[in-house]
Amino acid sequence: MGREMYLKVNPYTNPDIVITEVRGVVWHYTASPGATAENIAKYFNGTCIVNKRYASAHDVIDAKEVINMIKYNRIAYHAHDRNRQRLDRRRYGSNANFTTLGVELCIDKNGKLQKETYALAVLHGAFLMKKFNLDPIEHNFMHFQITGKNCPAFWVSDPIGFEKFKQDIASAMKQSDKVVEPIKKPTTKPAIKKYTLPTGIVKLGDKGTKVKQLQTALNAVKFKLKGKVDGIFGQDTLQALKRFQSVHCNPVDGIYGTKSRAALNKLLNN
Ligand SMILES: [Zn+2]
Repeated sequence: MGREMYLKVNPYTNPDIVITEVRGVVWHYTASPGATAENIAKYFNGTCIVNKRYASAHDVIDAKEVINMIKYNRIAYHAHDRNRQRLDRRRYGSNANFTTLGVELCIDKNGKLQKETYALAVLHGAFLMKKFNLDPIEHNFMHFQITGKNCPAFWVSDPIGFEKFKQDIASAMKQSDKVVEPIKKPTTKPAIKKYTLPTGIVKLGDKGTKVKQLQTALNAVKFKLKGKVDGIFGQDTLQALKRFQSVHCNPVDGIYGTKSRAALNKLLNN
């Protein structure tokens, strides 16, 4: 539903990482009075990348339209904040970016959610619930519920307003099959190539198969090497690994060990 303005693939706003499965929708607000959906899409495709800020969402909604920025089978960076995930971890994992879609709501010049934006959000919420066979009451969340961030501020201060929003989505699902796509059976998950990840420590100066496996894995999760997969752990591999660690695990030391392995395994072999 809505217009497509896909973000270019880049490490900060659209890392081109496959989503595990859509099990919920997380609602955000832009915190940017007067900015339109198009303004926000352009920001995520420009300034946000230039500023090397890890942030994005799948969709953004203003009073006029819904813009889809990231395909629903790829993750956005919207609901993870240093392991503060508060939802049921059996369903949503430790990083909700892999199991939820993020939708940004625009606000007017005075910081208010306009009624037209709300109405579009209800319809779009109904569309997403049906598309992914989700329950409107159980599977819609405020960003606040996941990490404690004050987002969307207008619902954090008015939780009943958010409950009403969910009810309105439920009503829209019952009423209007015309604006909402029919329920589709979930398609079988795309076959994901399995990757062999090296065991033990791999570090600067190392050579051989383990380094090749690491280089292949880094390329696969889009923290790409500038050069080739050559089995030589030089500066190029070091920098790619550090960029990966800065997003997915600690410490950011450029040394591959159990934590880097676990993080790569989660992304590639789930
Ligand atoms: Zn948010």
